[in-house]
Amino acid sequence: MRTASVISKFAVERDLSRCTQCQTCVKECGFEANYYDALSGVVRTRQGSCVGCQNCMIYCPAKAISLVERAASTRRRRAN
Ligand code: SF4
Ligand code: SF4
Repeated sequence: MRTASVISKFAVERDLSRCTQCQTCVKECGFEANYYDALSGVVRTRQGSCVGCQNCMIYCPAKAISLVERAASTRRRRAN
C-alpha cells in the first residue's frame, strides 16, 4: 500500500445518503485510501493515505464525495 509522505491538506467526506456502495472510488484511488470495509459493509477512507488528487470525487457516479480542507490545527506538527 502506498501512503502519503505528508499529511493531506484535504479529507474525504462521503455523503452516505447518496452513496450506493458501488466501490468506484475504491478502484479509482491510486493510494488505496478508499477501501471496502467488509465488517461493516460500507466504503470508508483512510484519511492519512489520501493525497487529495480528487480522482474519487471526479469519478463517483453519485456525486457523494467532497474533499474538505482540514483544519490547520490538525495538520500542524509540533516544532520540537
Ligand atoms: S464511488 Fe461514490 S457511490 Fe460509489 S462507493 Fe464511492 S462514494 Fe459511494
Ligand atoms: S482524493 Fe485521491 S488519494 Fe484521496 S481518496 Fe480520493 S482518489 Fe484517493
